[in-house]
Order: sequence, then C-alpha cells, then structure tokens
Amino acid sequence: MSILVQKFGGTSVASAEGRERAIERIIEAKEKGYQVVVVVSAMGRKGAPYATDTLISLLKDISLEVNPREQDLLIACGEIISSVIMAHNLKALGHDAVAFTGAQAGIITDGAFGKGEILEITPKGILKELEENKIVVVAGFQGVSTEGQVTTLGRGGSDTTATALGVALKAECVEIFTDVDGIMTVDPRMVPEAKILDEVTYKEICEMAHQGAKVIHPRAVEVAMAEQVPIMIKNTFSEARGTLIADSAAERVITGLASLNGLAQVEISDYNGKDSQLAKVEVLRVLASNNISIDLINVSHKGMFFTVEEEKADKAQTLLYEAGFPCEVTKGCAKLSVVGAGMQGIPGVMADLVETLHQAGIKILQTSDSDITVSFLVPETQIKEAINLLHNKFTLKI
Ligand code: ADP
Ligand code: MG
Repeated sequence: MSILVQKFGGTSVASAEGRERAIERIIEAKEKGYQVVVVVSAMGRKGAPYATDTLISLLKDISLEVNPREQDLLIACGEIISSVIMAHNLKALGHDAVAFTGAQAGIITDGAFGKGEILEITPKGILKELEENKIVVVAGFQGVSTEGQVTTLGRGGSDTTATALGVALKAECVEIFTDVDGIMTVDPRMVPEAKILDEVTYKEICEMAHQGAKVIHPRAVEVAMAEQVPIMIKNTFSEARGTLIADSAAERVITGLASLNGLAQVEISDYNGKDSQLAKVEVLRVLASNNISIDLINVSHKGMFFTVEEEKADKAQTLLYEAGFPCEVTKGCAKLSVVGAGMQGIPGVMADLVETLHQAGIKILQTSDSDITVSFLVPETQIKEAINLLHNKFTLKI
C-alpha cells in the first residue's frame, strides 16, 4: 500500500474551519487507499494561545536570560497540542488515529537547540501504527537528540519534518497544504498578478525559498530532492490542482522572483594600506568568527561590498573598525532575486533586467549572479515597485 505524507501549516490548523478542511483532505486520502501520515504545525500566529510566538513570549516576560534547551521544550508543545487535537478530531469522526511527538516518531536530531537538523528517522513506530490501519499524526518542527533532548528545527521546520518522513517512509508523495493555490511566480502579497506554476524543479524552488519565498522551507526541498520524492503544494481551502515540485518540470528562463527585506550594505572602500589578499581574508574571518553571515559579496583589489542583516550592521561596523577596516553602512536595503533554471548561458538576461530597473529610476546598489539566479540590492522603499515591474514585464509571458 502506498504511503502519503500530508503537512498542514499554521495557516491551515489555526481555525476550526481550517482544521475541518484539513480533516476532509486526510479522510479523502485514506478513502483513496493510502496509508496516511499527517504532519502538523502549531495552531495560529502570534496572539493565538498555542502559537509558537505566544509560547516564546511566556519566557520572555520573565526577566532572566532564556535557556535554549528549556525554550525548545516549551515551543515543541505547540505542535504536540495540534497533533493531539487533529488525531482526536479524526477519531471523533470514526477514523482510527494516533498522535506522535517528534521523538515518538523516531526523528533524531543533531541536538542544536532552535536550529536542529534531522540526522535520521527510525520510523518503526509509525509503520506499526500504519499496519494497524491508523492515521498517524506527527507533531512537526521537532525531534530528539541521541542524548534524549527535545530539539526544534527552526522556523518552517514542519516542512522539513514532512519531507524527511516522506523519504524515510518511501512515500509516494509529500503534500504540503497551505493558504495559497500553489507556488506562484512571486509572493501574491507583493504582486497581485502573481501566477500559479503547475510544476517547478527542486533546484528552482529551493533557490526561491533561500531568496525569501517563504511558501516552503529550503531545507525541506533539499531533503526531498536528494531522494527524488515528489512534493505537491496545495491549498487547504480550495480545490486548485496545486504545484508539483519534481525534476520533470520544464526549465524556463525566468520562473519566479523573491525578495528579502531588512538588509544593510557594508562598503569597505580601501584596505587602509594593507595587502589586499590578506585584508579580504581578515575581514571575512572577523565576521565569520562573530557569527555574522554575509551575502552579495563583491570583492576587488581596491575594496569590498557585501550585505549583512540590518540588525547585525552596527556590530559588524564596530568589529571591522576595531580590526582596522573603517566601513560605510547603508541600512534599509532589500534584495530582489530573479530565478530561472533556463537562464544559464542565455545572453542578455542581466542587460534586460538592469535596463528595466534603470529606466524606472530604481537605484541598483549592487548585483550578483549565479547559474540560475540574478540578484539586485535596492533601497527597501523601492522593492515593491521593482518586483512588480520585473514580474509583470518578464513573467507574464510564460
Ligand atoms: P504555512 O503556515 O502553511 O506554512 P506560510 O505562511 O509559511 O504558510 O507560507 C504561505 C505563504 O507564503 C503564502 O501565504 C504567501 O504569501 C507566501 N509566499 C511567498 N512567496 C510565495 C510564492 N512564490 N508562492 C506562493 N506563496 C508565497
Ligand atoms: Mg510555512
């Protein structure tokens, strides 16, 4: 019998209506003959009683530094509550179901609190329940270390729980249910003309997710890609067909766009008389050893540009100053990325994009490109205009 993994995000399980629709989807799959494993997120967003942010605020309200181990133990409860409620609802409708924590599901992590990675899954317990014809509802976003510590997987971690279970159980497909009709060419909250993509390659959606499209977590895509488990992104609230993530998808020059706000540009305009090779290494080391990650890195023998998260900009500036590299910091920047597996080797893509932005008076602070992505750093005040412009000019043709 084929196994189907279905994941319902916070947007789906937040309301009684959403939970009802989710349950209809689960029962439909069961009636089609699948063995069903469900993964759930915590119920609702900040303000809702069992939402992750609400649980975090319970500790924040106490004037003592938060212990990461204890915080993980607390926030893992959000998904556990959700799994029990869903299993109980299924049982109330006459379908045998059982709720599992991440640990009970056999999800073993590396033990890094708040950002755990799944090392392996021992799905014996799940398989036993499936054999007994039960629907297994697993609490997403969590696992347990080999030392027995409850560990959460970071924001968006339930997506990874779902695809990792899909791989471990050799599922036919992993269905990720959310509040949009599938993966779109761009976030519909940014661009009203966003269009649904019927299919997209793992590589492209992974890149879009890394560049800010939060419809699925990039790690979840990487895990599925490694074993070629197909993912379907569907809407809990509509009958739309959804988007298939698989390598069979056609490659387009431009598939989609994504954006990331809250960045600061750092410019080191000269190395202060130091040898430029050594200076570059020193700058990168100072930042790395202080856990500041950098992006959009442009280096030359004269100086360098890169971006950091805005909230780390002051710290980066101080550290660099102390290391002998005074720098200029521009806050309020955003990165706009254009992704397409078919852009490799096609001349003129960058020229078309730059020309369009330039003609509209968008200030390009920096650019970068890799095999399937072109990115622009622009002022945050212009990001919405820029993304609408490029989207509507270049993707409406596909
Ligand atoms: P869930 O709670 O189901 O995990 P998320 O809020 O994490 O839901 O993800 C769904 C949201 O992702 C959508 O409401 C949409 O605004 C946003 N999103 C960003 N980029 C895209 C995109 N390219 N396609 C579809 N949705 C996107
Ligand atoms: Mg999500």
